[in-house]
Amino acid sequence: MIITVLSGKGGTGKTTVATNLALSLENVQLLDADVEEPDACIFIKPDFADEYEIVYRLIPVVDEAKCTACRKCVDFCEYNALALMLDSILVFPEICHSCGGCARICPVGAISEKEREIGKIKWDHSKRPLEFWQGELNIGEESPVPVIEKLKEHIDPEKTVIIDAQPGTTCPAIEAAIDSDYCILVTEPTPFGLNDLRMAVEVMRETGKNFGVIINRSEDEYDGIIEEYCAREGIDILLKIPFAKEIARLYSKGISFVEELPEWKPRFQELFKKIEGLVR
Ligand code: SF4
Ligand code: SF4
Repeated sequence: MIITVLSGKGGTGKTTVATNLALSLENVQLLDADVEEPDACIFIKPDFADEYEIVYRLIPVVDEAKCTACRKCVDFCEYNALALMLDSILVFPEICHSCGGCARICPVGAISEKEREIGKIKWDHSKRPLEFWQGELNIGEESPVPVIEKLKEHIDPEKTVIIDAQPGTTCPAIEAAIDSDYCILVTEPTPFGLNDLRMAVEVMRETGKNFGVIINRSEDEYDGIIEEYCAREGIDILLKIPFAKEIARLYSKGISFVEELPEWKPRFQELFKKIEGLVR
């Protein structure tokens, strides 16, 4: 079972849900796929292994001796990662998406590809039953997707897998979610929360994924804004996490609340059972 935790925007409690759920289950992997700003480590406090895996991607290199300055590669590149300047091709590696297309369409074979380091994968296997993996995108790099792809190569099919996705509804969030059995959308009962939830729901429907909603910072007098939307759209509200001082206090200290508030572990275990039922 692979469950990805997403949110339409940052700061809604996505990592709170992912870490508390992972810490409530047995035989589980937690993958932090929010590779631009991984922060599940604040709550898991991993003891990372000394070694780590470097993530590379392929970037074009132009052989000026062969290049005829025909511009075909520049016109082909959807990401404007190539430019023709005074009969020379400039490559902007940070915005290249490594599709390899320019090398294939160059009529004189002037483009080859070289590896460029863009991030790393770290892990901690010492915290059984939780196995923690973290992807990191190097500062200045534009494309988190290859790091997320590499992170997902470490998914163990014998374990329950929780993926903490990047916030938003763009490619990195979709990449994190695309192989999941179920997605949890975390939101908060505010107009901003609803707006971002709507966008996340649209993406989920495009991808055809099963999904449900968790309301974080829930308050009875404000939850209606999310409840009414979910009722209209036929979306399950799986859990509500209250806007409670004790939870906020633990969060500010980097402590997952399932570790201090014993009533919460069974609630997350119940949530997992419910998801299992929905997936079946
Ligand atoms: S397609 Fe090849 S020959 Fe044409 S500008 Fe690009 S690198 Fe040069
Ligand atoms: S590999 Fe793809 S994205 Fe990168 S420069 Fe070539 S065409 Fe553009």
